[in-house]
This record gives sequence, structure tokens and C-alpha cells, in this order.
Amino acid sequence: MTTKHNLYGLDRGQLEALFQQIGLQAFRGRQIMKWVYHQGLTDFGGMTDLPLTARQWMLEHCTLTLPEIHERFVSKDGTVKWLLKVAAGDLVEMVLIPEKGRNTLCVSSQVGCMLDCSFCSTGKQGFNGNLTSAEIVGQMVIANAYLAEQSQSVTNVVLMGMGEPLLNFDAVLPATNIMIDDHAFGLSKRRVTVSTAGVVPGIRQLQEHTDVSLAISLHAPFDELRNELVPINKKYPIKVLLEACRDYVEHLGPARKLVIEYTLMRGVNDQPQHAKALANLLGSLRCKINLIPFNPFPGSGYQKPKNADVYAFQTVLMQAGYITMIRTTRGDDINAACGQLVGMVEDRTRRQSRYRERLAQQVDVVQVQ
Ligand code: SAH
Repeated sequence: MTTKHNLYGLDRGQLEALFQQIGLQAFRGRQIMKWVYHQGLTDFGGMTDLPLTARQWMLEHCTLTLPEIHERFVSKDGTVKWLLKVAAGDLVEMVLIPEKGRNTLCVSSQVGCMLDCSFCSTGKQGFNGNLTSAEIVGQMVIANAYLAEQSQSVTNVVLMGMGEPLLNFDAVLPATNIMIDDHAFGLSKRRVTVSTAGVVPGIRQLQEHTDVSLAISLHAPFDELRNELVPINKKYPIKVLLEACRDYVEHLGPARKLVIEYTLMRGVNDQPQHAKALANLLGSLRCKINLIPFNPFPGSGYQKPKNADVYAFQTVLMQAGYITMIRTTRGDDINAACGQLVGMVEDRTRRQSRYRERLAQQVDVVQVQ
């Protein structure tokens, strides 16, 4: 038996091509997108403006399958975290951060990560595979279904969950296309952000195909330090990375900015000399800076920065003219913060049950299944 096409994974061009292959006109692909994403219909038989033969073909050859919701946790501050089971049986996480006037969804792109950044718990689990584009889009469908109960929807998507999106380019590109397509989720391209630890060829590839927003996880102004924190820096050092950033922001046009992410770790990269060097390094790059105080996890070997150091760091950057935000930690009580996502893929059985016990004591744990 051949596997069915999971239509959640196909962007408009791919859907049109699929339907053309079976002798239908391209616009049928767009009709289907509207049924799926605007009407929320998953029953091909009910897509009444499509020819009966097309509906029958879809029933046989296509599917609309979502990741399985393994568990859902709701934090006291409204942050929601889902543990999702993907096709390979692995668990990934996504986090929804409701704020005034916006709902940001942080989605995963891989199971684990290859990059092994020294301060990231996902990196510690190693790499267990890529998500498919349908599994990335599926995260959005699941979050929107949850928000629909409150007559809301996801307004912003950041690919800042587990994994390095630019090492799963072939799945990430169609997924972001679907997020910004008016026939699907119709988000503004400014509100869909791919975050990378600095995979330079991926940045170049992204630039060739789309103009969604880009965030760079920089974390250090010096190569020596960055090599330690973000080992892929050895392959694509800061200078090479910033060249790609300049080109990308040029491509975005004068009204848009890049995002620089900088996780602050006490005594490691959070001192005034780092802030000054960062300001010099960025120079005229059109960007805004997000400072993320390190979120500790067991065995990380790093500490949270002191508040005073975080503010001093911000002040240096603001004085140098950069819009600089301090990202407050959300969903602390459900381990939903940056770098804490599925801390537990590695040893699912034991570590995850312990994790759940711990969570159950702290928060309102919603058992979905
Ligand atoms: N691989 C991509 C996306 C995933 S990480 C990237 O590196 O950008 C998303 C963000 O979370 C990155 O900026 C990363 O540096 C940050 N992060 C990871 N672990 C963290 C931790 N323990 N505390 C604070 N931020 C962390």
C-alpha cells in the first residue's frame, strides 16, 4: 500500500501540482485549501464544489492527519503547552503564549536537535528526526482549535520550539508558506518567524524562496565564546553569519528588521563588555534585540543572570540605538520556557512520568487522553 498524501503538508503550489497530475485544474487545490483551513472541513466527501471523481480520488489517496495530542498543560499565566506524538512515535512540544492582543505559537521543527548548543536542553537529547511539513502545520491546526473555543486564533508563529528549522528546510518552507497563504492561515509574513542558530546556507536558501521574518540566535559577540555556546559557529563564524543576515534584511526591505536573540548566562556572556562588543558588531544591521535570561534546567551548568546585569546589558544596547526587549519567562510552572521543551524525549518512560508527577503537583494538568 502506498502512503496517502497528508494534505496538511502541502502548500498551494504543491497541492495544485498534485491535482494537475491527476488531470484536474490547478484551482481545485485552492478550493481544497479553503475547505480545510477556512471551513475546517476534513471530510473530503463534503467538499461539494469539487467533482465527484476528485472527491473519490481524495478519499482513496489523501488524508488530513494531525499529530496525536499526548498531553496538554495549562499554566497559571495562561501559557499552554502540548506534548504531541508524531508519526515516528516521538514526542515534541509546542507552546502557546497568549498575551494582550496576540497569541504567539512556538512550534517545533525537529525531534531533538543536531546542533548541541551548550545551554539548550533540546540539544542535550540529541537528534531523533525531522518533522514533516504536515506535522508542523498540524501544530498550528491544533492550537487554533483550542483558541477557537475562546473565539480566538494564533496571530504569530515562531519556529523556536525544538529543533533547527533551517536543517529541515524542505518541510519548513511549505509549512511557512501555508501559514502566510490567504487560502490557509493568512498570517502576515512579519508574524511568522524562522529562528536559526546560524545555518548560513539555510538563510540563503530561505531568502531565495520566501520573506518571512528571521531571528538569529547569536548569544555571543566573540567567535571564541560563540564556538563554545553554539558549536555550529565553528562552521559558520560570526562574520559569515552577519553577512547572510545583512543580505536577508536587505531582501526584507527597509520597513522590516531582523531579530537578534541573545540568551544571557551569568558571568558567561552577560557583562558590559559583551554588550558593548555586541553593539559594535551589529553596527548598522537593521535589527531589534531580544534578551532572554537563561532558563535553568538540571545539569545545565549555567545560571540565570542577575537582574541588574540584564538591565545594564539592555541599557548599553538601547544607548547604542537598538530596540532591546527583555523576554520574560512564561509558563514557568509547566516547564514551557525556552530551552526546556520536552526535556524528556531521551528516556520517555521513566523521566517523563517523573516529570508529569512533578507537573501534576504544580499545575492544572489537563489529561486529554
Ligand atoms: N534552533 C533554533 C530554534 C530553537 S531555540 C535557534 O537556535 O534559534 C529557540 C531559542 O531559545 C533560541 O534563541 C535559543 O537560544 C533559546 N534557548 C535555548 N535554550 C535556552 C535556555 N535554557 N534558556 C533561555 N533560552 C534558551
